[in-house]
Amino acid sequence: MDDQRPIWLLEPCPEWCTREHEEDDHPKDRYHASEATYLPVIGATADTVPATASADAFELVIHIRRQLDDPTDWVTVEPAQTRLPRLTLTRESATRLVRALAEQLDRDG
Ligand SMILES: [Zn+2]
Repeated sequence: MDDQRPIWLLEPCPEWCTREHEEDDHPKDRYHASEATYLPVIGATADTVPATASADAFELVIHIRRQLDDPTDWVTVEPAQTRLPRLTLTRESATRLVRALAEQLDRDG
């Protein structure tokens, strides 16, 4: 497999990368990517008052990407169909978000 790597891909893929890197990938498409997680949810994505006025069932897609020559992992959460609104955080910020969510949810007992 290594001998099929594109010549522009000089760095090793991170363990979580499942992306097929192609020789003719556009420079902007030269990034490592995790396998996406699809999460069915009920929520609101529009800025309505109350928020529940726009609540609906939809699917979130969650993935990690790292641009070539960039040491930062970016975690993205976005609706699978509309892609917006999108939340893209560094891995460290996403970890802090998970902790903050857990703290908020633990308050409801
Ligand atoms: Zn990769």
